[in-house]
Amino acid sequence: MLYKSTRGNYRPVSPAEAITMGIAPDGGLFVPDRQPAIPPEQLMQISNMTYSRKSAFILKPFLTDFAPEEIEECTFKAYNREKFDAAEIAPLIELERQIHVLELWHGPTYAFKDMALQILPHLLLKSAAKTGENAEIVILVATSGDTGKAALEGFRDVPKTKIIVFFPAEGVSEIQKRQMITQTGNNVRVIAVQGNFDDAQNGVKSLFSDKKLQKELGQFGYKFSSANSINWGRLVPQIVYYFSAYSDLLAKGKIVPGEKINFVVPTGNFGNILAAFYAWQMGLPVHRLICAANANNVLSDFIRTGVYNRNRPFYKTISPSMDILISSNLERLLYELNGHDPGKVKKWMENLKENGEYAVDQETHGRIKEIFWSEQATDAETLETIKDIYRRYRYVVDTHTAVAINVLRKYLQATADARKNVVISTASPFKFNASVARAIFGEKAIRNKSEFTLLEMLSQASGMIIPEGLRNLDKRPVLHTTVITKEEMANNVKEILIPSAS
Ligand SMILES: *Cc1c(COP(=O)(O)O)cnc(C)c1O
Repeated sequence: MLYKSTRGNYRPVSPAEAITMGIAPDGGLFVPDRQPAIPPEQLMQISNMTYSRKSAFILKPFLTDFAPEEIEECTFKAYNREKFDAAEIAPLIELERQIHVLELWHGPTYAFKDMALQILPHLLLKSAAKTGENAEIVILVATSGDTGKAALEGFRDVPKTKIIVFFPAEGVSEIQKRQMITQTGNNVRVIAVQGNFDDAQNGVKSLFSDKKLQKELGQFGYKFSSANSINWGRLVPQIVYYFSAYSDLLAKGKIVPGEKINFVVPTGNFGNILAAFYAWQMGLPVHRLICAANANNVLSDFIRTGVYNRNRPFYKTISPSMDILISSNLERLLYELNGHDPGKVKKWMENLKENGEYAVDQETHGRIKEIFWSEQATDAETLETIKDIYRRYRYVVDTHTAVAINVLRKYLQATADARKNVVISTASPFKFNASVARAIFGEKAIRNKSEFTLLEMLSQASGMIIPEGLRNLDKRPVLHTTVITKEEMANNVKEILIPSAS
């Protein structure tokens, strides 16, 4: 299988090349040139596999230049009980007959980003070896909070790599920030960038297109790659859990073979829900992919109207990992929906860059509406949902998952759809404990309490133990203190990599 750039100005590359490069040199994203199909009878078959075997099964047809044993080695190293605190890796919880929750936060950093970032370093090292890459790979990451920590954990002390994470100085939760600035490892750097996530992400994208910088660093033996969901190696492992959830429902007798279900995905950069779209294209019986947004509702407007317009206020919400106005992976969706014709996609992306907006044609919009449905939830609705879910089921969800559940309720009201729904739960409630505690205990009860006292309160209310990595986070030494503007990013990278550059 070969991978093509969505902008159409680069040669097709092998899977290993796509993963090593991260982003296509013409500014596009790599996309597989055909879709492997998983026949329905195999869905039952995979239900009694371990998660790492399921993962190898789904990855194989995409990574055609990897030997099957190599893929298994990667999935076994990534998905095991040392790294994840749940034997199933991605457990599926039934709230009620029609609503199931897929918990994707049992990895080392307590957000779903671990599902991909625990395996990406293994895939990347093998890919680099296959492509004969001798350079030291520098992973550049822009994070809205969770990717950064997950990538740091995945890549720390991995030989022949360095990782530099840029996070928006004012755009992440206290716990997210603490997790990152206390990161240990001899190949890691964490930098705060003034501005919001879009600023950090645009800054990183411009480093990727800065040929002069790359040439300069190349002379010192460095090459950039990406751990963001623009990298196919980050996206493809996310397809697995959609199959896993479906096969679990089958195995438990909750659905019959072929029965269509809905997935509800709290969305930011459109990576997670795009993986669901690929699962659907591969034959997973899906009726609707429900795209849940917070007040930064650029995606729900787009899905409803076909007009993408990022010229709007940027809101800081209590679901910060979804505070994004430029959803990179939408480009892949548009390319898929236009028969892999880069012409229109290129034009739309140029419009986005120049005017901050584009409108897709009716045909494309029609195809989007066939499979996607979207709504948004305000912060107040999110808090109300957390409280309600706790009252009804004694189950505690984080803010992002609550956005998804709130939007699911809106969907059920609007459509009276009787199908089963799987809500993608993207973070542990402990990771966003300030908002979760506020929702459950009320404003007064939490006033003047530190985030770390709140962890204790939440643990008592939920009966869940505080995750190891979040306990005592406030007592760990701060190792990263640099704050820069986005214009300083290129120089900053040089200073980090070339000791004499400053
Ligand atoms: C990253 C993230 C999201 C958004 O996922 P995308 O793939 O960017 O759409 C939602 N919730 C949490 C907790 C996240 O970390």
